[in-house]
Amino acid sequence: MADESVSKDHGRKRKSALAEMFAPVAGFGVSFSTMFRKVATEEYPEKPRPTQPRFHGRHQLNRHADGLEKCVGCELCAWACPADAILVEGADNDDTPLEQGGKGRFSPGERYGRVYQINYLRCIFCGLCIEACPTRALTMTNFYELADNDRGKLIFTKDQLLAPLHEGMLPPPFPMADGMEERDYYQGKVTGPTAAQRDHVAARDERVVVDESPLAHDEPGNIAASVPGEHDVVHTTAPTAAQTREGANP
Ligand code: SF4
Ligand code: SF4
Repeated sequence: MADESVSKDHGRKRKSALAEMFAPVAGFGVSFSTMFRKVATEEYPEKPRPTQPRFHGRHQLNRHADGLEKCVGCELCAWACPADAILVEGADNDDTPLEQGGKGRFSPGERYGRVYQINYLRCIFCGLCIEACPTRALTMTNFYELADNDRGKLIFTKDQLLAPLHEGMLPPPFPMADGMEERDYYQGKVTGPTAAQRDHVAARDERVVVDESPLAHDEPGNIAASVPGEHDVVHTTAPTAAQTREGANP
């Protein structure tokens, strides 16, 4: 019995000595096994990782096929926002002829969004605003690079949020497509600008050049809020290609 006990004790000591001898090498086991795994390092910002198609990124204000804005200034998005991040000021569209000083029409609705701002210092990207929008004017893109050293630059204004004019679109204001009503726009019956709309825009631009009509200065994308000092940060930068890149979710 005594011999058996001594032998077991000897075996335990030998195992312990071996474990102690290989302990430093075992510590490298994780390193060695990781060396042969696929590298997961993200090369950001050189190679931004693609997002999921329905990623909640920066917002975009969409347009109809002829260039008119989908936003009708109803403010439902602002009311739905739990973070109070959206400021909208609507205004009436003006169908008065150019010759009589009409300012023109920005959307097919009765009203349009004269001022539109989103404060990305407040936004939590919940998407409730885009759910609330009755016209699909407001959607979210896949753009997420929104950090900045200047807080003022994180209040995006209408000119930054508006989708760019795609080929063939005309810059508002101009009348609705001939013979079309507001509902026709939402039913997809308007597929591009008509000749009458093109003529109107050409005449409007000519007027702006000749007599420097207020159209050239008063409504440049309807940028700033009407209350000075409150949400009055004005940006003139157009959205970059990255901000409206493919994958946007209109
Ligand atoms: S995503 Fe959410 S927090 Fe951001 S503006 Fe829309 S409703 Fe407000
Ligand atoms: S974005 Fe949509 S919900 Fe917001 S004001 Fe415009 S139409 Fe209304």
